[in-house]
Amino acid sequence: MTLFPLFVKLEGRRVLVVGGGPVGESKLDALLKAGAAVTIVAPKATEAIRAAAKAGRVEWRIREFRPTDLAGVTLVVAAVPADIAKRVFIATRARGILCNSVDDPDNCDFYYPAVVNRGDFQIAISTAGQSPALAQRLRQQLEQQFGPEYAEWIQQLGDARRELFAADIDPAARRQRLHDLAREEPGGSGGAGGSGRAKGRVYLVGAGPGDPELLTLKALRILGQADVVLHDDLLTPEILELIPPGARVECVGKRHNERQVTQEEINKRLCACAAAGQTVVRLKGGDGAIFGRASEEMDALRAADIPFTIVPGVTAASGAAAAAGVSLTDRRLGSALAFLTAQRCKGNPPPNWKAVAELGGAVAIYMPGGHEATLARELMDGGLSSETPCFVVSQATRPEEQIVETTVGELPKVPQLPAPALLLIGVVSARKPQTSSKIIMNSKSKFI
Ligand code: SAH
Repeated sequence: MTLFPLFVKLEGRRVLVVGGGPVGESKLDALLKAGAAVTIVAPKATEAIRAAAKAGRVEWRIREFRPTDLAGVTLVVAAVPADIAKRVFIATRARGILCNSVDDPDNCDFYYPAVVNRGDFQIAISTAGQSPALAQRLRQQLEQQFGPEYAEWIQQLGDARRELFAADIDPAARRQRLHDLAREEPGGSGGAGGSGRAKGRVYLVGAGPGDPELLTLKALRILGQADVVLHDDLLTPEILELIPPGARVECVGKRHNERQVTQEEINKRLCACAAAGQTVVRLKGGDGAIFGRASEEMDALRAADIPFTIVPGVTAASGAAAAAGVSLTDRRLGSALAFLTAQRCKGNPPPNWKAVAELGGAVAIYMPGGHEATLARELMDGGLSSETPCFVVSQATRPEEQIVETTVGELPKVPQLPAPALLLIGVVSARKPQTSSKIIMNSKSKFI
């Protein structure tokens, strides 16, 4: 039997929920959101139902179901044991009222679909009860594809449509414009009067330290919408595999290119692609706003009036701390955490090493590449004890991950680990402090 799909206006209509347990309660929100007048009939009810009844949001009849409860009712939801549901169902059938008995298909006229809810934009999925698990999987996938921004966008499309219908415009041109608008993406400048493709958008997306599972859901969803992806050297092949086949992928990292792509060129490229109406993802390792030149790109985008969205990522320090099995902060030992880089822009003064040494917390040093001995010396000259615990973490969260646990005093003796690597200083190890370097092998890593 084929089910008939429909979206129902329940505004002002009476809906009866039989049963006041957690299942009955879980049905209330969607009904109230749709503007239904809800009556619950149940001898007992959850705290939330009682509160809703007290506040006048629902009516609660404190007793067992009676067929007379069906007077004036449009829909019924039975969240009760099967024997009661059967009685309810027989009574609704007799009166031509549609009934859903939760998890009881035999006593149902209609099923609840799995729903992607984006305001007026809703996707309902049904498998006619054959595989609720598949419906759930599809819902999750669709939620990735159609993010919360669709709620606002659908309103904008509606406004534009009403404007176009109010205007004196040739119906064929109107139809074309409506289709053009629907082809755009949420966040585009849109509008009924625009012509041609709207300006695109740039997403400044942090991809995390390497493990593809550390990509955020938002990053993954946006990646799925990309027309073009500009990424740096830190991106692992596993993450690049998540880019949809239709998108153009450009590596603008330093190491992969014979000729170094300058920041100026990257800024221009971002602006040009977005101005051509493309959805541009600027994909960076870790969090783009931490030693990632994000502010220079934002400045360029602002100057070109290109809309952009920042999607934060898991920064390397978090990945490295997780790899080393330590916490970046410990309230019992300090109240500060500093992120430093060993690379400086020309003209920038060096960090105040004395202040760093006296920080009273942990220090994560990005891009230490080859300067470990100097860094250790500066920190000790600044007053840091040579016994301070220290980790060198190479390729954190990746299969090749390597970790060296040592002390600041011993740091210069540690062999150079492959890039990218990060220093964590002053973080408290669960283990006893080491007096000499110790190489912790990750189960997946090879000997260095
Ligand atoms: N925006 C990035 C940092 C870019 S600077 C972030 O938030 O993580 C590049 C430096 O980050 C590297 O030199 C290294 O110090 C560090 N880094 C990035 N990924 C790393 C990883 N998987 N393991 C260890 N260090 C990493």
